[in-house]
Amino acid sequence: MQRLALGLVLLLICGAVSAEQIKPATKAAIKTPTSTGAAKKVAKKPAAPKGPPAKMLFGAVSTPAPLAARAIGSYAKGCLSGGASLPISGPDWQVMRLSRNRNWGHPRLLDYLERLASDARGLDGWPGLLVGDMAQPRGGPMITGHTSHQIGLDADIWLTPMPDRVLTQQEREDISAISMLKDPFSVDPAIWTPLHTKLIKRAASYPQLARIFVHPAIKKVLCEQAGKNRAWLSKVRPWWNHYYHFHVRLTCPPGAEGCGNQKPAGSDDGCGKELAEWYKMLRKAELWRSAPPTPPKPPKPGAKPAPKKPPMGLKDLPAECTAVLKAGGGAPEVAADGTVPAALKAATGKDAGPPIPRLDPVAYEALKAELSKKGKSKPGAKPKVEAASAAASVSTTPASTVGPASPGDPAVDNPSDDPISADDPAVPLPDRKPQ
Ligand SMILES: [Zn+2]
Repeated sequence: MQRLALGLVLLLICGAVSAEQIKPATKAAIKTPTSTGAAKKVAKKPAAPKGPPAKMLFGAVSTPAPLAARAIGSYAKGCLSGGASLPISGPDWQVMRLSRNRNWGHPRLLDYLERLASDARGLDGWPGLLVGDMAQPRGGPMITGHTSHQIGLDADIWLTPMPDRVLTQQEREDISAISMLKDPFSVDPAIWTPLHTKLIKRAASYPQLARIFVHPAIKKVLCEQAGKNRAWLSKVRPWWNHYYHFHVRLTCPPGAEGCGNQKPAGSDDGCGKELAEWYKMLRKAELWRSAPPTPPKPPKPGAKPAPKKPPMGLKDLPAECTAVLKAGGGAPEVAADGTVPAALKAATGKDAGPPIPRLDPVAYEALKAELSKKGKSKPGAKPKVEAASAAASVSTTPASTVGPASPGDPAVDNPSDDPISADDPAVPLPDRKPQ
């Protein structure tokens, strides 16, 4: 029965049209003393029932924890107490996809978004922000979409300018964000404008901003358009799937106990080696994605299916997150079969943006030939970074001379909005650790 329920849940998740597909938890979390301690406790009690996945529990709660505002844990393993909701319409912003109830955050995030919206409009001429997912009322893992966005310090902002009117609730559900991509590797110059560059530069300019994540093709265009002042580029990192929105991540509030910051951004602008490495991964991933469909291979006799990592349980989060979940009688109802009805209901909502354009057959064949010539990579085989030596036409700087191996730090940078999911056997996982 439980298995049936789990199957149903997985189906719902797979079918749910979410902006950013599910990705299993990675080593992304920055270990905090609290979360490490909690994990050790779990290991000592293997017999204890795990209970519903934490994403079910946090995904079912519709109100914030009536406690002091705190970001607890790390971006991809934590929760939020005392969350505040961003007003759905402000002078310079509007919240999209209201049905998701994800316009919650630490007050630090709300302050940042309001300030950015105002500055971008007043100083740069950006018409206003369309705000996508922030956090759930009590943060925590989400049933659809991101693996991060858990502690109220992450937000997605659409790259679509805000229309000059207040959108209706229905429009906020239905309107699609505009993709910036002309093809899987490049930004469409007819869509990307200098104002987009200004917006991201502005968003990166505040000291409380830790990282911005954008599609590698957007990082490339930012590198080209940045001009002489390039310091802000170090905080803007490539990541999968951020081609119709960008993701802002703030540092922990000063002195916040139990909030895990990530490593400061450093000084490299990331336009050399880092971007070249990302383009290698992008090309290999595209070779998979654009490959003509082939029938699945029958499993070898006696072969065991690869073990799946179980979803994060409540006990995998910092211990304080249990109190956050239960505060004010907030813990959701769990059905006898272990499912959480309110979470299942919440697991709907429209894709925020269009899919990534695919290569046409001619371009696909050309890429395949290029990669197999240089690295013997072929569709269907899991690519290795070393195998794909295709040069990325992304930088005038020789790849060997500049930059830390930052794509090798996704454990640090990982916003976990990863469209290439290990859960999706049709799209093998590119190597995320190319260093
Ligand atoms: Zn995001």
